[in-house]
Amino acid sequence: KDAVVCRGVGKTWAAGTRRAHNALTGIDLDVAPGEFVVFLGPSGCGKSTLLYLIAGLEDATEGQLWSFGDLVDTPSPERSLIFQETSLFPWLTVWENVSFGLSIRGAGKEERRSVAAEALQRVGLKAAMDKRPDELSGGMRQRVAVARALAMRPKVLLMDEPFAALDVQTRARMQDFLLDVWRDSGASVLFVTHHIDEAVALADRVVVFTSRPGRIKTIVPIDLPRPRN
Ligand code: ADP
Ligand code: ADP
Repeated sequence: KDAVVCRGVGKTWAAGTRRAHNALTGIDLDVAPGEFVVFLGPSGCGKSTLLYLIAGLEDATEGQLWSFGDLVDTPSPERSLIFQETSLFPWLTVWENVSFGLSIRGAGKEERRSVAAEALQRVGLKAAMDKRPDELSGGMRQRVAVARALAMRPKVLLMDEPFAALDVQTRARMQDFLLDVWRDSGASVLFVTHHIDEAVALADRVVVFTSRPGRIKTIVPIDLPRPRN
């Protein structure tokens, strides 16, 4: 079964202060288990909207979505979303932040600490587990966000411009880091960016959004050497 299936998916945002806005229409998309797909396109063309629909955070107004055969109609820890600016709880330690979702599930302290340690090991931050978020750099905080997602053992990682707030060097290091994490997690990744170099560096497949609603095109990059910054 595919990790994500979209059939005829569309979203019209309800009229608020402005008139109702059709952000997406007629999207068909299949993502295989373990595939790394990048959504590329200019601002405002609906990339984040499609990610929120796949996350189950918003309902599609047209069509239907499935993940591993199940209809997507609510958020699930199997589909973890990571944003550009991570909100870690400043009053909790790194490991407590990482295991926060497990405490909602009712896991005890020992189990939470050990799951957090394992997830932090995978992002190279085990040594920082007892620190507070404000003692970490921006890149480290985004790695904590990735660890927090990994602790829930997601089958699909949804990332909305997760490195956009980082400087260019840190961004390049985070891309390498993400590819390592992705390879040993076995998860599918859906990654939104408007940087074509980032898309080419990361993707098995690039889904290009255009500014006409519903127009998406798929491109499979050939293996080019990484651009140097
Ligand atoms: P992208 O991620 O490609 O920049 P978005 O999915 O954020 O694009 O936005 C697509 C369109 O939907 C935009 O016109 C945007 O203004 C609109 N939109 C996004 N989120 C909302 C919302 N919560 N309410 C109303 N309109 C929204
Ligand atoms: P935007 O302002 O378009 O949302 P970002 O916040 O991601 O873009 O980046 C700010 C600026 O930094 C961009 O306009 C771009 O000129 C530069 N920049 C960001 N990432 C890269 C990169 N990977 N390579 C080269 N330049 C970059």
